[in-house]
Amino acid sequence: MIPTVDYIQSCFDEYNVLFFNGTLPPIPIKLSNARTFLGKVTFVKRRKWLFGEWVYSNFKLRINTRFDLPEELIQDTILHEMIHYYIAVNHLRDTSTHGQLFRREMKRINEQGNRHITISYRLTALSQLMESSQNPALPKAGVE
Ligand SMILES: [Zn+2]
Repeated sequence: MIPTVDYIQSCFDEYNVLFFNGTLPPIPIKLSNARTFLGKVTFVKRRKWLFGEWVYSNFKLRINTRFDLPEELIQDTILHEMIHYYIAVNHLRDTSTHGQLFRREMKRINEQGNRHITISYRLTALSQLMESSQNPALPKAGVE
């Protein structure tokens, strides 16, 4: 399926209650035609003062609509991005982009919700799913 903003929004609202106790603030949802990622949370990070604490703003949840993907993969991608959002919005520190904290949350949601969130999707699997596009070059698709 190719998700719509309404679909992504309803997933976000449902998972927010199920896995984050409804604590995630609303986030604008944007559809993306990018070749390089399935989902991404973007935000602006700046310091209030020269040596002040970091302030995050302008969060956006971007979900890819270039690829026709199985519904479960889209849902897991939304969940993956929600973990990034949870970590960023709460100013939690992780050891790396998909560090110990990310993996702990991923494991918790996978077990609790019988989900299959991962930190990377294989290009070979995606190449079979992607549009039979004009461009024969395989996209480097993954999650960020
Ligand atoms: Zn990620």
